Amino acid sequence: MLMVIGIFLVIICVFLYKEWQKGEFIIGMWSVGITLFVMFVLPPIVKFCRLMWRLMTSTMGLVIMGVIVVSSIIIMIKTYNRWGPKCAICHRTMPLNGMLFLKDGKVCNVCRNSVGFDHSAATVELAKDITVAKMILMQENQILIDPTAKLQAKKAAEKKQAQAQYQRYHEIKDYFKDNATLRAGDLYISDTRRQIFLDISMDQEKYEVYKYEELVDFELKQTHVIQHIHEDGATTVVNGIWYTISDSDREISEISEIYLNMTFSGQNTKTRVFLDHTIPADSIDCQHALKKAEKYERVLQHVKDQPRKSPAKITFTVTSGK
Ligand SMILES: [Zn+2]
Repeated sequence: MLMVIGIFLVIICVFLYKEWQKGEFIIGMWSVGITLFVMFVLPPIVKFCRLMWRLMTSTMGLVIMGVIVVSSIIIMIKTYNRWGPKCAICHRTMPLNGMLFLKDGKVCNVCRNSVGFDHSAATVELAKDITVAKMILMQENQILIDPTAKLQAKKAAEKKQAQAQYQRYHEIKDYFKDNATLRAGDLYISDTRRQIFLDISMDQEKYEVYKYEELVDFELKQTHVIQHIHEDGATTVVNGIWYTISDSDREISEISEIYLNMTFSGQNTKTRVFLDHTIPADSIDCQHALKKAEKYERVLQHVKDQPRKSPAKITFTVTSGK
């Protein structure tokens, strides 16, 4: 131990001397601090830890530790009423194994039984969606439920809802697939229905339908980047393309993003991204992305060009002459 400290001190002294010479006073001060810590503070701490370890591993130490542990357990059990979890409804202390977890709290066995909840898996499943307030309401109205039957009914209702959602999605999608006036990617429009259909996700039956009148505006945006390249006659690689030209400065026109914003009434903006990384403007990929974006633009322009269904009423005031 002493040797380690000695070696450490020597290293510190050499370091300190060098830093001092360089004029690095702050590092030098730190070194002084560390040196003093190692010399005067560290040894007593090490000594104390060693002493404690020797005490704890002796027979006497083990006995004392055992007494402390056992007495703490006894105190914890005796004072359980004070620190144990309380029922969110009747506020009595609950035994650790008897509580039921609701959506926003836990309740005791007595309260659990008062509304028909038992110890089944169905109860645990149902309780997850029930709030304390709802359970108090059930108690007040003396509602007794059968957890198993209730869970089955709940699952059946959920399934029915999912089926209805699936059916609605496919009905509307089939209509737009067969009758769309124009289409671009996930965007369909129908002049007959005067509706815009966004086929957001096929596997989750997610979609949105808007009236023509709800389309406030749309905007196609692209960000151009000009890259300056200096060539010294050697071969240069720019975006995967090899160039071998004599000394010259060139500029490459690139596009870093292409996206389209559709704004519907109620400040509801939908964005479609067609390009999200920088590529040369004249590359095939960039042209392709631009074409896709312009197709969306054409479809939306068609919607905007349609006359609004309910034009402002023009009232003629006839003033009868005398
Ligand atoms: Zn209770």
